[in-house]
Amino acid sequence: MHYNMMIIGAGVTGCALARVLSRYEGSLAVLDRGYDVAEGASKANSGIVHAGFDAKPGTLKAKLNVRGANMFPGLCEELGVPYSQPGALVIGFDEEDRRTLLNLVEQGVQNGVEVRLLERDQVLELEPNTNPAVECALYAPTSGLTSPYELTFALADHAAVNGAEFLLGEEVASVARTGGLWQVTTDKNIYTCEILVNCAGISSAKIHNMMSDDKKTVIPRRGQYYLMDRMANLPFHMTMFQCPTKMGKGVLVSPTVHGNLLLGPSAEDIPDEKDVSTTAEGLAFVMDKCRLTWPQATIRGAITNFSGIRAHEQDGDFIIGKVAENAYETVGIESPGLSSAPAIAEMLGAQIAAEQNLQAKGEIVPAPKRSKPFSHMTDAERAKAVAENPLYGNLVCRCEVVTEAEIREAIRRPVGATTVDGVKRRTRSGMGRCQGGFCSPRVMEILAEELGIPMTEVTKCGGESYLLSGRVGEKEEQK
Ligand SMILES: Cc1cc2nc3c(=O)[nH]c(=O)nc-3n(C[C@H](O)[C@H](O)[C@H](O)COP(=O)(O)OP(=O)(O)OC[C@H]3O[C@@H](n4cnc5c(N)ncnc54)[C@H](O)[C@@H]3O)c2cc1C
Repeated sequence: MHYNMMIIGAGVTGCALARVLSRYEGSLAVLDRGYDVAEGASKANSGIVHAGFDAKPGTLKAKLNVRGANMFPGLCEELGVPYSQPGALVIGFDEEDRRTLLNLVEQGVQNGVEVRLLERDQVLELEPNTNPAVECALYAPTSGLTSPYELTFALADHAAVNGAEFLLGEEVASVARTGGLWQVTTDKNIYTCEILVNCAGISSAKIHNMMSDDKKTVIPRRGQYYLMDRMANLPFHMTMFQCPTKMGKGVLVSPTVHGNLLLGPSAEDIPDEKDVSTTAEGLAFVMDKCRLTWPQATIRGAITNFSGIRAHEQDGDFIIGKVAENAYETVGIESPGLSSAPAIAEMLGAQIAAEQNLQAKGEIVPAPKRSKPFSHMTDAERAKAVAENPLYGNLVCRCEVVTEAEIREAIRRPVGATTVDGVKRRTRSGMGRCQGGFCSPRVMEILAEELGIPMTEVTKCGGESYLLSGRVGEKEEQK
């Protein structure tokens, strides 16, 4: 099969770039080994839209973080993605931390970010549940929050309505230049394309090394988290960071954009880039570190734990641009990669369009409208929604108040859910306290109906992740 342009990787970077490139003439495909978009780092991170004080001035990380963070409010509004801007504190406990924070303030100023140092009393006035041993803090009022996977889904949907095709569940084994084209060989197919872009996250160095003699190494750096249930009164309304270390931005205590509390991440270099397991030691480290910010932290109220893998390139900065003839790449897109994604796509998209003489389409289809979640509607809005579509009256997820209408809509989106996890991330069904204990069977029935498959073929996250092994009383050969 042949496309004009192919992107390897349907994370936030690849989908943001696909949205930009879908505005130009020519066929475009986004390929991912995951059975859904946002199956890599883009589904398991802190969801912070960093203000931009942490990256070294003059680096691509600094430039794209600041530009990306400025683009977020407008982009999220356009795509119907949750975004809020509660601000952030980076807290310090001694003179060494004060020096670190003063350096960060200086960096922030150089990067053009609004930052200032607060003293102990000011910190405790803003966030009274902070450890009273706090000495001072960097305050960044423009630090924001988003839902990383909802953003990725929305970017993918917008690219899809403008013609991008998503080829999911296919792992790229090799890329090679043959006959003036790029040949992309997956575990299922062979494709050719004129322009190839590597946005393969944790595997981006492997794909880079297939295209270039200048070899790169990306180190998988795992971060583990606790997710706490939503609370009537969150202990913090801002993102609470500790001083950064050479391994990253340190452990945070932060509200999520959906009103949960997130504790983490740890930072461990691991040998297996696909190992997203959590460990007793990793989670103990997270809880221990969190108590420095919030002495009352306890695992009571934790509803799940998870981990994500950072793609740490050893030279430290993002690598973005042309890698070979008609080939481009984004390598080492670790934090602040989510915050930078809109700006990475803007910059790389413009470079590709200019160098490849892409022709802008005459008409761009606007982003598909997202219905307001039933959980956010007023009583009057709920009554109207049910009157117009009675499926709004069927509550499927009681914890997160998600209705059958929303689940069917999530499956029917341009890049719709095909798995239980896909429904969960698009609707929040199964995200609550019972973690899908009650709603999963009903979600599976709806998926089976919408996809026209037996329930035994419905999976948690694609591949062999079947949730049912057969019907009770059914003989093996009848399955
Ligand atoms: C613990 C943690 C916390 C973070 N916190 C933040 C934060 O708060 N704010 C922030 O700005 N950033 C944060 N980040 C960074 C951010 O999550 C990433 O920079 C961003 O998600 C990278 O997106 P991506 O699309 O480049 O990579 P990914 O989302 O990993 O996407 C790459 C895709 O490529 C696919 N792929 C890989 N190899 C192949 C192959 N051979 N064939 C086919 N497909 C392939 C993968 O399946 C994957 O879907 C954090 C990251 C982690 C891990």
